[in-house]
Amino acid sequence: MGLELYKKKRNFNLTPEPEGKKKSSASKLSFVVQRHKASHLHYDFRLEMQGVLKSWAVPKGPSLNPKDKRLAMMVEDHPYDYKDFAGVIPSGYGAGIVEIWDKGTYADIENSDAKTAQKNLLAGLKAGNLKLTMFGKKLKGEFALVKLKSKEDNTWLLIKHNDEHAVDTDYNSEKETPKNSPINKWLLKNKDTARSASRPAPVKKKVS
Ligand code: MN
Repeated sequence: MGLELYKKKRNFNLTPEPEGKKKSSASKLSFVVQRHKASHLHYDFRLEMQGVLKSWAVPKGPSLNPKDKRLAMMVEDHPYDYKDFAGVIPSGYGAGIVEIWDKGTYADIENSDAKTAQKNLLAGLKAGNLKLTMFGKKLKGEFALVKLKSKEDNTWLLIKHNDEHAVDTDYNSEKETPKNSPINKWLLKNKDTARSASRPAPVKKKVS
């Protein structure tokens, strides 16, 4: 695990993203889910492990409905400080807007102390079957991240376990996002611009 690839992809003279070093939480392990409008709108699911954030891009965002198996593409480790990053990436890799959709602490499925949890989580990561307990504002309770063996090396599924925090109705992470979030404001503004630019000049019909 390391941040070499993260650093290689970015020019820290151009991006406000943290250059970052390995760091760890004092007690509980941290997680963050960021909503990221880059070339496509997606979610980034990040779990603190061994001083970095193990990261997955989740195109549709997480779900609290256990029937949903959300595609999660593993990407490069991000620095610990990235858990607090929100803002505009003006150019280069990931250019767009990042906002924090959910954050909190997490543990292994037994909710062990941080040291034991990390040991179990690392074993799960290696085995391609990661079982988590999330303590977020939106994401609560048990989840699994399961690696698909038949696909490319980085393809996982994010699945909610059936517990008291699960829902049996449709879950859409977009609907759980405040309407006035920075990305939503940007989307609204740019939709208006696109619409007015493409709208043909009004033609008055002659009434005969
Ligand atoms: Mn992203």
